[in-house]
Amino acid sequence: MRHFNIALIPGDGIGPEVVAEGVNVLKAIEELDSGLTFSFTAFPWGCEYYLEHGRMMEEDGIDKLRKFDAIYLGAVGYPGVPDHISLRELLLRIRKTFDQYVNLRPISLLDPSLTPLKDKTEKDIDMLVIRENSEGEYAGAGDRLFKGNPEEVVLQTGVFSRKGTDRIIRYAYEEARRSNRTLTSISKGNALNYSMVFWDEVFEEIGKEYPDVTTYSYLVDAASLYFVTDPERFEVVVTSNLFGDIVTDIGAGITGGLGLATGANIHPEKKYPSMFEPVHGSAPDIAGKGMANPIAAIWSVSQMLDFFGEEKWGQAVLDTIKEMIGETEYLTPDLEGNAATSEVGDQFVKKLSKKQ
Ligand code: ATP
Ligand code: MG
Repeated sequence: MRHFNIALIPGDGIGPEVVAEGVNVLKAIEELDSGLTFSFTAFPWGCEYYLEHGRMMEEDGIDKLRKFDAIYLGAVGYPGVPDHISLRELLLRIRKTFDQYVNLRPISLLDPSLTPLKDKTEKDIDMLVIRENSEGEYAGAGDRLFKGNPEEVVLQTGVFSRKGTDRIIRYAYEEARRSNRTLTSISKGNALNYSMVFWDEVFEEIGKEYPDVTTYSYLVDAASLYFVTDPERFEVVVTSNLFGDIVTDIGAGITGGLGLATGANIHPEKKYPSMFEPVHGSAPDIAGKGMANPIAAIWSVSQMLDFFGEEKWGQAVLDTIKEMIGETEYLTPDLEGNAATSEVGDQFVKKLSKKQ
């Protein structure tokens, strides 16, 4: 028996709706003689909590999370609470404190019908984007000089430490080697003459230790073009915080949209918990209507199981997602279906249980 303690932060809007379905999937796995058991502790943090208490989470919230094996997050965000508060005081704080420096974003076309690209049936999009998640362009370093003055100058500084660049690139090489796939680095050395030249150097240096891994290096502008014209060429991709943010949204766009996009915030050394979440936000326009697609959140569960070393179950969840999408009967409105969030979740659990 292996037991995992999971902290739930359902959050705002559709967050609680989709997290509930992901939790049901884990409970179903527990009942399937998997040898896995889970306990769940929910924390009511988010923007509603903020409006009541003036803060996004309890003062000792971080300490409360520390002892868990994983954090499962829905979404945070609310009309009226500025993004920089909701993001910085909860999401980014967790990522930073728990040193979740790897952002893993699988981009797979689960069914040809999901892509807006032409020649749909020939598309075989299946890549893993590894995004630097702790520094780079999002380090928050900068200044505003002569504020409000016609001479005002604003600086936003990218921070690329040797340690930070080294560890993300090494992680990517390890993943490419482990899965026997090619590795593509996305950077911009021709224009960002300090940070990205350094990035390219580190990519090449570490590559010497991985002669078995085939590598490519693209400028981010060219890579963005290829994401649309020829995404099949990418297998494992490693890139900086900002570029990763952008190219993974292109990736979501070519594979079925936000209702299917998942992301894991990984602290590989396992001294602190890692965090699993659908990429989408709280989607206030559809919150409370039972219309949210729970598949992205369920895919996060698959990533969580992989991270626990339970790849067999991670794969079973992913296979079930593929089946669900292929059949079209139980899809939410974002995928042109009529099913409600809970119907998709219930059907998912039924299918998963039957397969075992
Ligand atoms: P936030 O401020 O929390 O980021 P947002 O308004 O930016 O929220 P997102 O959740 O990022 O909204 O997504 C943008 C739009 O995509 C939503 O308004 C919604 O219509 C759609 N969308 C996002 N996630 C889902 C989902 N799981 N199922 C269905 N539609 C979704
Ligand atoms: Mg948003």
